[in-house]
Amino acid sequence: MATVLWLQGGACSGNTMSFLNAEEPSACDLVTDFGIDILWHPSLGYEMGEPVKQMLNDLASGKRQLDIFVFEGTVILGPNKTGRFNMFADRPMMDWVRELASHAGAVVALGDCACWGGIPATEPNPVDNVGLQYLKRKHGGFLGSDFRSKWGLPVVNIPGCPTHPDWVTQILVAISAGRAGDIALDDLQRPQTFFKTFTQTGCTRVQYFEYKQSTMEFGQGTRQGCLFYELGCRGPMTHSPCNRILWNRQSSKTRAGMPCTGCTEPEFPFHDLKPGTVFKTQKVSGTIPKEVPTGTDHVSYMAHAAAARIAAPKWSKEDMFVV
Ligand code: SF4
Ligand code: SF4
Repeated sequence: MATVLWLQGGACSGNTMSFLNAEEPSACDLVTDFGIDILWHPSLGYEMGEPVKQMLNDLASGKRQLDIFVFEGTVILGPNKTGRFNMFADRPMMDWVRELASHAGAVVALGDCACWGGIPATEPNPVDNVGLQYLKRKHGGFLGSDFRSKWGLPVVNIPGCPTHPDWVTQILVAISAGRAGDIALDDLQRPQTFFKTFTQTGCTRVQYFEYKQSTMEFGQGTRQGCLFYELGCRGPMTHSPCNRILWNRQSSKTRAGMPCTGCTEPEFPFHDLKPGTVFKTQKVSGTIPKEVPTGTDHVSYMAHAAAARIAAPKWSKEDMFVV
């Protein structure tokens, strides 16, 4: 039986809410079918006060076995690197994190905040937020570049704002089944099985992307075109399986007419924190785009786009705006 401890730092609980919606497997399946012993979780644990503190001390000292340490939210370093803006069980949370991580078999960073700081670490980052092993794309983070858990793994990053519920439960099952060493990670320590492909893989608008036919409004159905050119969908630049492993088993942002905002990448949010701009996406059409799909260059892409528009079949332009 694998033991799991789940703590939250600078967090909104969004990843916990997501986790509770998991279906394949569900949070209950983890306990009943996969032998996972959830020692404590801030929303699910029924112990409070001294018993929790005693358990934390036992785990942090290595007296009691900790197989998987799940952390949600940022590590808060402020003020002045004391961590006292985020106290938990009479100590700065960052002190618990350091000690628990050093005794855990595997450490899992859940959600953008834990992976790379997420929205809270966006400039000006007033309380000094940092991710477990990254600050945005910079390797190191709170635990340092050299950190390895007791089973020899770097922090396993499961990003997203929030993460998809099934990404979480499936990775926890894989790690607890003793297959941690078999989990191939990408260069940002994300499990490749989920994050090797782009959000665009499986998008039902991809035929319009091919012929550069655009939708002009949010929320239009699949047949109304691609969200890239006018609404700045980041599907071709974002690594996630959102159109392979659907949300609520039936849909995704792009299927519902909402551009991908790139929430699984360290740079998310791609705009500053001025009101109204945090989730603003970049219009791509009309000018030289700031960004083109990952893996190509501006000149090649613009040439390809011009040819694709000329070659676009009639069906792709029906009820559509040509860009
Ligand atoms: S750019 Fe976005 S909407 Fe268009 S095909 Fe790619 S993922 Fe789908
Ligand atoms: S579609 Fe994009 S923004 Fe939405 S959850 Fe997936 S990766 Fe995040």
